[in-house]
Amino acid sequence: MSRDVDVEVAIIGTGFAGLCMAIALQREGRHDFVLLERAHEVGGTWRDNHYPGAACDVPSHLYSLSFVPNTQWSRVYPTQPELLAYLREVADRFGLRPHIRFGHELRAADWDDARQCWRLTTSGGVLRARRLVAGNGGLSEPKAPALPGLERFGGVQFHSATWNHDYALAGKRVAVIGTGASAVQFVPEIAREAGRVDVYQRTPNWIVPRLDRAYRPFEKWAFRHLPGVRAAYRALIYWRNETRVLGFVVHPALMRIGQRAGEQHIAAQISDPVLRARVTPSYAFGCKRVLISNDWYPALQRPNVELVTSPIREVVREGVIDDAGNLREVDAMIFATGFYATENPIAARIRGAGGQSLAQAWQGGEQAYLGTLVHGFPNLFFIVGPNTGLGHNSMVFMIETQVAYIMRLLRLSDAHDGAAIEVRDEVQRRFNDELQQRLGSSIWASGCNSWYQHASGKITALWPGFTFSFWRRTRAFAVEDYALLPAAR
Ligand SMILES: Cc1cc2nc3c(=O)[nH]c(=O)nc-3n(C[C@H](O)[C@H](O)[C@H](O)COP(=O)(O)OP(=O)(O)OC[C@H]3O[C@@H](n4cnc5c(N)ncnc54)[C@H](O)[C@@H]3O)c2cc1C
Repeated sequence: MSRDVDVEVAIIGTGFAGLCMAIALQREGRHDFVLLERAHEVGGTWRDNHYPGAACDVPSHLYSLSFVPNTQWSRVYPTQPELLAYLREVADRFGLRPHIRFGHELRAADWDDARQCWRLTTSGGVLRARRLVAGNGGLSEPKAPALPGLERFGGVQFHSATWNHDYALAGKRVAVIGTGASAVQFVPEIAREAGRVDVYQRTPNWIVPRLDRAYRPFEKWAFRHLPGVRAAYRALIYWRNETRVLGFVVHPALMRIGQRAGEQHIAAQISDPVLRARVTPSYAFGCKRVLISNDWYPALQRPNVELVTSPIREVVREGVIDDAGNLREVDAMIFATGFYATENPIAARIRGAGGQSLAQAWQGGEQAYLGTLVHGFPNLFFIVGPNTGLGHNSMVFMIETQVAYIMRLLRLSDAHDGAAIEVRDEVQRRFNDELQQRLGSSIWASGCNSWYQHASGKITALWPGFTFSFWRRTRAFAVEDYALLPAAR
């Protein structure tokens, strides 16, 4: 193998994906790698989303690396500070920090056909890497709403993923745009101190109770001293979550059971029939992400909170005007409008063989092979790439599965004298045809608009099946599915 590169492997990002990848390389004695991170600390999602009440919707004992158990999780659902502390601890324990180049944003990645490597232009300089692992996150680019007149607004505005803690909300009039997963977590928190909160809802979500609680001392003792108990508990959470696929993909009619739970939750927490109707979705349970919360509906009924379901006509200097012409004056606007989930901006920055950008290749919607490889982009490996997202289980499982798959691909390349590797066109095509066929009959295609869908209507964010079937497919390794391009000399 020639040494005309600066580093063997460059990894973008230091969230769960980047850190997990780095550890896997290290474990195989591959120490020639760097992690390029645009921020100044590790943690990804859990570094950036520090809004009040930020927490994970998957129980902590499953939403963590299988090989780095934390016996001391404080509660069933981990909070953002706990997850960030965990990821910092992972980076420290595995000695990853010397490999991380903080403040290095990837601006361009160009495949150099002659040298068979990636030329990476970052905010901190240029480097050449033989292999590029994109762990840049599926939900890492906040999306602001396109509201007419937004530039005229005279108050403070920020996105939930870039929360401005310097701005005290106590006594302030606040407009929250959006009622998705983040809003459901932070509105109950800010409503306690804000003077008034106007919550602008376009479409309601199905919400079920959050069965959260603190772990008792004897449980923590058992998790620490009885590894079998911890492993069994983790497995129990995993398999309980997996059963939900039966409703999402196999028999969407089963979702009626969930829908009844959602309806009962509304009935138990809201007595006003008008408000009940306004928060009840008109689409099938599961079509959009199902949320879990015990304090969202009570928050909407506080005297200082108003649920606004009339569409926003425009924003003016003083506040927000709805479709009926009502002006609600506010001091601050908070966008709970999600992320670029199906059009990752990084795609415009990556140019593969022949100079084609990934954004061009993905014009009709993102697609890859097993969410990892894209034909025409040799030695590029995605983690949390297209169609790997989940509506029912832990993304950390998918991340570990993809990292193990990438390691297998690297070994295959090594066995062929370091040949660059890409998936064959027809293999990627067949795989995506099959995916789209399965998605077509899933609950996600039952007639709602969700962030799982590309503008074309194609569902490009989700894996349509059991996570163990994803795992199985990454292990059933057929060499003939890949093209091995001879290494540069
Ligand atoms: C608010 C919120 C709640 C969530 N809740 C859940 C949940 O309950 N359950 C679940 O399974 N998943 C949840 N997720 C999804 C979550 O993103 C994944 O579970 C997981 O954290 C993804 O890890 P990652 O490393 O792939 O990406 P991230 O954690 O997003 O990390 C990506 C990293 O790449 C860096 N980066 C991006 N672009 C560049 C660039 N061009 N150059 C350099 N660095 C770059 C970013 O700064 C970041 O550090 C949630 C996401 C959000 C946003």
